[in-house]
Amino acid sequence: MTTDDAAVDAPRPIVYGVASALSPMVRRIVADNPGMMTGPGTNTYLVGIDEIAVIDPGPGDEAHLDAIAGCGGDRIRWILLTHTHEDHSPGAIGLRKRTGARILAFGPGQGRGKVRLDGTLGDNDVIEATEFHLTALHTPGHASNHLCFLLNEERTLFTGDHIMQGSTVVIAPPDGDMAAYLASLERIRTLRPRLRAIAPGHGHVIEDPQAVVQGYIDHRLAREAQILDALRGRGSATIAELVEDCYADVPPELHPVAGKSVWAHLRKLVDDGEAKGDRFEGEWSAT
Ligand SMILES: [Zn+2]
Repeated sequence: MTTDDAAVDAPRPIVYGVASALSPMVRRIVADNPGMMTGPGTNTYLVGIDEIAVIDPGPGDEAHLDAIAGCGGDRIRWILLTHTHEDHSPGAIGLRKRTGARILAFGPGQGRGKVRLDGTLGDNDVIEATEFHLTALHTPGHASNHLCFLLNEERTLFTGDHIMQGSTVVIAPPDGDMAAYLASLERIRTLRPRLRAIAPGHGHVIEDPQAVVQGYIDHRLAREAQILDALRGRGSATIAELVEDCYADVPPELHPVAGKSVWAHLRKLVDDGEAKGDRFEGEWSAT
């Protein structure tokens, strides 16, 4: 590959506070909140030109909200939340103050990301703008109130934290649910018409959606099989022991997060009749 080819193939670099045009209809501004759980930062998308829907205004970061409002001003009519975690939703309040736009989500959520909504969106509800249609798809798993948004005109799916670029997603019970997550992935896999791109809540645009979604499903099922094997091998085990068995290749600082994932898998295995147990700190056994 020559240097020129590399420049053509490279994703748009991430520069905080600056809008980057990703397609005729979509611009992205990345919030300056990089971290272990947020990758390079939270992606805020502006969809449309004359009428704009903002997807995920991010944390309550004044400079970030100024940048969004500076791009869209009073043409921003809708503030859409993929879910109400604190790296995605709190900025909605400051953006509503700046623009007068309505805040819409599946539900107000709880905890630190909770937001007072102006309306709710259910599965298959559509935001109709003059230039585009955005269809809300209820995709519980990472969060019970998670929505993806399908931009019908460009066959692009905004996936929030349902699918990220560059890493897997944390499924932390009780609001996170592994069985629901896998069902929501399967729904995306079988979307018709086929997706052209995925615009995730963190990381770059995904240009090969089918392969990435299939990879996500395969990864989860492989992990589930590995956890069940480890549980059967021990007879009964704590989550900490299963993390030791199954996440030996993962740095210790990530083990608490891995523990949540194991918990989510175990709860699904209980529903499937393969395991017994309940509490995060308790003993789990194979059936
Ligand atoms: Zn996030």
